[in-house]
Amino acid sequence: MEILYNQGGHQNIWLEDFGHGLAVQANQHLIIHQGKAMILDPGGHKAYKQTITQVAGLLKMKDLQYIFLSHQDPDIVAALNGWLMTTEADAYCSKLWVRFIPHFGVDRLVEHRLRPIPDEGMILNLAGCDLLVLPAHFLHSVGNFHIYDPLSKILYSGDLGASVGLDYDFVTDFEQHLPYMQGFHIRYMTCNAALRAWVKMVRQLDIETIAPQHGAAFQGKPIVARFLEWCEELACGIDVLGDLFQVPQKT
Ligand code: FE
Repeated sequence: MEILYNQGGHQNIWLEDFGHGLAVQANQHLIIHQGKAMILDPGGHKAYKQTITQVAGLLKMKDLQYIFLSHQDPDIVAALNGWLMTTEADAYCSKLWVRFIPHFGVDRLVEHRLRPIPDEGMILNLAGCDLLVLPAHFLHSVGNFHIYDPLSKILYSGDLGASVGLDYDFVTDFEQHLPYMQGFHIRYMTCNAALRAWVKMVRQLDIETIAPQHGAAFQGKPIVARFLEWCEELACGIDVLGDLFQVPQKT
């Protein structure tokens, strides 16, 4: 567990990841403000038990007010039913995914607590703290959002900035870090136009830390700026598809 920020009744907690065999490493984050909390991308079934145990050690489950789902992937959403059944929280995801997520098995009793985020994003008020729900469509999901916390100045960037296969929590050398994230971004992110539009939006914010859903976080303004520059220049997805669409031939 890593405390990213702790001041004036506001805490940003990076929960511990226990590693789950073949399942991709995933970060779970908790924002607590004046006793109320939001969990971000709580994860799938393999992470559920340990994550909920950690959360229960930090607050009363009835004080979990929001479950934020950056997009619809199983490593984010699969255990949603358990979270809805054991808390009174409302879950927020893109309106594009509200009819699909129940296929992970969301009980009728709680499905009304899965709420849509409009394409333009929204503000979620956590006990008086306005958390920004920022559009990040096509990065990588068609209905995708990030959270910006104006008190800690942390941008929770979901799969954007994700890295895999490394053993450190914070990026210190950007160039050395690149091999852990480049391949993923080139294949999963839709196109440079989406990245550029996103960079233009987030440059308006005062960001100290970018915390992705997988791998290491970017802490401090210089490395945040370096990451944004990299995003701005990256050719990915449909930019580099090349001749991927070929009818497969028997060899
Ligand atoms: Fe994803």
